[in-house]
Amino acid sequence: MQPSSRIAIVGAGLAGACAAFALHRHAHVEVFEATEAADQAFRAAGGLFHPLMTRRARPNWQHDAALEALERLLAAVGDRVPVRRGLLRVAFSEKQAQDFREAARTYPHFVQWLAPEEAKERFPQVQAPYGALWIPQGGAVSAARLIEVLLEQSGVPIHRPVRVVDWKEEPDGVRLHTDRGAVHRFDYAILAPGYGYQAHPELARLPFQAVKGQVICLQRPPSLDTLPLVLANVHLAPYGDQVFVGSTYEPAFTDLAPSEAQTRWLLDEAARWVPEVSRSTVVAALTGVRVIRPHRPLPVLSPLPGRRRLWLFSALGSRGLLYAPLLASWLPEVLERPERLPEAVRLD
Ligand SMILES: Cc1cc2nc3c(=O)[nH]c(=O)nc-3n(C[C@H](O)[C@H](O)[C@H](O)COP(=O)(O)OP(=O)(O)OC[C@H]3O[C@@H](n4cnc5c(N)ncnc54)[C@H](O)[C@@H]3O)c2cc1C
Repeated sequence: MQPSSRIAIVGAGLAGACAAFALHRHAHVEVFEATEAADQAFRAAGGLFHPLMTRRARPNWQHDAALEALERLLAAVGDRVPVRRGLLRVAFSEKQAQDFREAARTYPHFVQWLAPEEAKERFPQVQAPYGALWIPQGGAVSAARLIEVLLEQSGVPIHRPVRVVDWKEEPDGVRLHTDRGAVHRFDYAILAPGYGYQAHPELARLPFQAVKGQVICLQRPPSLDTLPLVLANVHLAPYGDQVFVGSTYEPAFTDLAPSEAQTRWLLDEAARWVPEVSRSTVVAALTGVRVIRPHRPLPVLSPLPGRRRLWLFSALGSRGLLYAPLLASWLPEVLERPERLPEAVRLD
């Protein structure tokens, strides 16, 4: 890629920030973000990552490469983005415990099986009646902070709040039209609009689905000072003097407001695994929207169908931290050679 290549990134969420960070040394990059403040899905994200994010604790697609890419990114941002290491994945049924035990036998380098009494001894605040997996490679970061630091370290110009409302691909470049009435010309545009995909007819017809999620933030009682990161049917992520509990999974939604009923459900479920949370005060409820490919649960990094210069980086589902750094790291090589992309992430 020529250092003089001009690349636009539309959306300053996790995908856009990782893309900007991966490309800023290779080309001239500019970011367009529709909102003033952080308004992306990660507002509500737990920020959890680990290599066995399936229900049955099977390794995710490209998990080794994905964790390596994430670790490279975390090393690059250093202690400006604190990382919490180690994750306790609590089995929520005997059936799941069987799967977890098998995972521990098959992938002993990733996970350790803790029988109920061992789990109780190591993590007395947590109830794990069916046992749990200890995943040392798992962890959590404040994803909003990661996005902020990546954009800052990239040093790329950010047009904000500026919404891209239309685009045209021409033989020698792409024209982006903004809600300010301006037209900007680039060699490539990477669309990373998250849930904003629904506003653009060319994206709205893609086979994607939006799934709302709610997270609540609790004041952490002193008795939970040593609470680990916990993942069962909900997650509990301690940050400072707060604990974030999430997430709901709501494919049918009519608005983005947090709901009292979902707050109640999250509290009740969290209390099943960590009874002390029932004494905590809810200080906030947040929502976000994940974009998924229902029939193919993998992210997308691809030229749009029939396009060469207009790309889409999306469908990260609930695995943004696992996949955004990996896919972004391919960009410098694949933008001019899309045939090198794994078929699994392409749209055609
Ligand atoms: C409740 C919840 C919990 C989650 N928990 C986790 C977790 O624990 N771990 C994990 O890895 N992932 C988690 N996720 C998933 C993660 O949040 C997403 O995968 C990730 O945020 C997707 O990033 P994105 O950049 O594609 O989209 P977004 O984060 O939505 O960012 C898109 C950005 O594009 C901007 N935009 C949209 N349209 C335009 C336009 N036309 N012009 C300019 N800008 C535009 C938007 O304003 C937004 O800032 C969770 C998601 C939710 C909702």
